[in-house]
Amino acid sequence: AGLDLSGQTAIVTGASTGIGEASAVELARAGANIVVNHRDSHDDAADTVAKVEALGRRAVAIQADVSKEDEVIRLFAEAESALGPVDIVFSNAGRQKDAKIGDMTLDDWKAVIDVNLTGAFLIGREAIKHFRNKGLREEVSRARGKLIFNSSVHQIIAWAFHVNYAASKGGIHMLMQSLAQEVSCEKIRVNSVAPGAIATAINAAERERNLAGMLKLIPYGRVGEPEDVGRAVAWLASDAADYVVGQTIFVDGAMTLYPEFRGNG
Ligand code: NAD
Repeated sequence: AGLDLSGQTAIVTGASTGIGEASAVELARAGANIVVNHRDSHDDAADTVAKVEALGRRAVAIQADVSKEDEVIRLFAEAESALGPVDIVFSNAGRQKDAKIGDMTLDDWKAVIDVNLTGAFLIGREAIKHFRNKGLREEVSRARGKLIFNSSVHQIIAWAFHVNYAASKGGIHMLMQSLAQEVSCEKIRVNSVAPGAIATAINAAERERNLAGMLKLIPYGRVGEPEDVGRAVAWLASDAADYVVGQTIFVDGAMTLYPEFRGNG
């Protein structure tokens, strides 16, 4: 088994920008055809489609808000009529809405939980239903479906002033593991990637304001690129990772080693 996804169909949510876009490209580079989900960024989604097509794969952009049940159900229906049965789903869409706890409104809380955690639940549930419909296709892949969540180092690193975000990612961790425990016996592989600091729009302001402070948290000495995560996603989706089930792959330049404990030695 190698990194060969030819003939497989992948849905990537939030694929018009950042890690979603890079993952769509890396999955396509390995051979997959791609459903580029976006919430409302038609032009950016068209760019991702063009990048996938430039690699010789098929791609289609489908608008859907992952926090809305009816839209997620429609996303899967449209995806299958465009590109056939779905083999790989990367639940990537996510957002931040930061506030100190005393200032965090219920709307701030819900805005993040609805997309990051409820969205992951809805995408995960529909993915599993569609993988089940497909039956086993041994010739394509040993697993009948590969579901990958985009979590974060904040599934384990506490994050003051971002409690909605950290809670959503901690939730994704248990969602992923519990789903893996529930459906692995059906040859459905569920895993997560957990990025550290990756250069995307989500943290552009923070990188502008405090790059030196950010780098102090990263032993490997550089901010990550979206492709660093995209390559891990493509690997997790491939048969090379066939025995990797219910795991989180941290792609973080060792941020989770808590470099402050290295001291000045
Ligand atoms: P990004 O802002 O470029 O990407 C987020 C994408 O999600 C955007 O395309 C956005 O339009 C989409 N999205 C938001 N709400 C949506 C909805 N309701 N329905 C469909 N799509 C929606 O930033 P990114 O860094 O590429 O973020 C992607 C994922 O990576 C997020 O889940 C984020 O939490 C996670 N992550 C990012 C970092 C980082 O440092 N950049 C670190 C850890 C985890």
